Amino acid sequence: MVRVNENHLKLPGNYLFAEIGKRVNAFKAEHPEANIIRLGIGDVTRPLPQACIEAMHKAVDDMADVKTFKGYPEYEGYDFLINKIIECDYKARGVNIGTDEVFVSDGAKSDTANIQELFGQDCTIAVTDPVYPVYVDSNVMAGRTGEYGSDGKWSRITYLPCTAENKFVPELPKERVDLIYLCFPNNPTGMTLSKDELKKWVEYAKKNNSIILYDAAYEAYISEENVPHSIFEIEGAREVAIEFKSFSKTAGFTGTRCAYTIIPKDLKAYSASGEAINLNRLWYRRQATKFNGVSYIVQRGAEAVYSEEGRKQVRALVDYYMANAKIIREGLKSVGIEVYGGVNAPYIWLRTPNGLDSWSFFDKLLNEANIVGTPGVGFGPSGQGYFRLTAFGSKENTEEAVNRFKTRLKI
Ligand code: PLP
Repeated sequence: MVRVNENHLKLPGNYLFAEIGKRVNAFKAEHPEANIIRLGIGDVTRPLPQACIEAMHKAVDDMADVKTFKGYPEYEGYDFLINKIIECDYKARGVNIGTDEVFVSDGAKSDTANIQELFGQDCTIAVTDPVYPVYVDSNVMAGRTGEYGSDGKWSRITYLPCTAENKFVPELPKERVDLIYLCFPNNPTGMTLSKDELKKWVEYAKKNNSIILYDAAYEAYISEENVPHSIFEIEGAREVAIEFKSFSKTAGFTGTRCAYTIIPKDLKAYSASGEAINLNRLWYRRQATKFNGVSYIVQRGAEAVYSEEGRKQVRALVDYYMANAKIIREGLKSVGIEVYGGVNAPYIWLRTPNGLDSWSFFDKLLNEANIVGTPGVGFGPSGQGYFRLTAFGSKENTEEAVNRFKTRLKI
């Protein structure tokens, strides 16, 4: 008899988006005429920037010529892309990152899910609550999280609530933890940390010998000053942090797949005998075994994000979505709904009116306004009573959705 990895069986219920799909399908079966607007899943809808398209076409031609053909890529990415990442995303912000500290990958999802493999089974974990579910579920699969309680919490995870009451800024953990997942700008709340706030986390990690796993997938949406674009803008972070970034939301690469992870060479974890182990080399070894790189064509497309034309087009893309965010923010505010986010991130996090729980508001919004959003509680217990809308739809749909909030939703 073949035994399964029973950690997988511990994962509770349906994946959030599967449950949403089920409810939407049931509604559609009953109301086939309804024109449903989806402001739920965080996927982009606009086409790739033209500069990326042209670069990828050219890269396809390279693959057709024996002189420029490429086989397996380097595990850590091509120099042409790594050099651009270092120059434009780090050096331009006064941060020094070495070429061997960048690992190009097929997504921040896989990297944030896989990174836990580098750490001991008994490592303790803290996550903000609500949270991008991948951090938690990947640790559940690895058997690191203990038991799932009726309160929606794992017994061996430290939850750091982020609610309107603390302005969505998590407090430092009361007990010492090994690994801290931080995501800013945040999915799902759309909120950020200031440089001073992030500094406290770096100090905590240094003092407690912890490691921060910093997900900056939405960095391109930052519009305000004093919001760090990288944790490495904070002094000392090289000794305590790993950073994840992605071209998915920056440049519409959700279907094209390209991201990167920075693991500084100063970052160490320890063996049982107390030997300091360089995590950069450990990840390289892991990737060399389990990952065969991102295709040449896609990396050429990502490189074009940093060209003059590419930058303008990416800016236009981000501006398009952020104009939607503003439409949602202002429209909802005008009907008296409490809204957060949507300034430095494409997510709008709203408090459900009249104290409804997240799923009741989901059903109400679907039934009355035919709009699909994401129940906040799906991101963690502190998301209860909140709801996420995304700015990734078309302008027309976003305007229509806000109009329905004003005219069809009975608040
Ligand atoms: N990190 C966060 C916080 C996200 O919200 C997402 C996608 O929604 C990802 C990572 C996944 O990024 P990628 O498309 O690069 O896998």
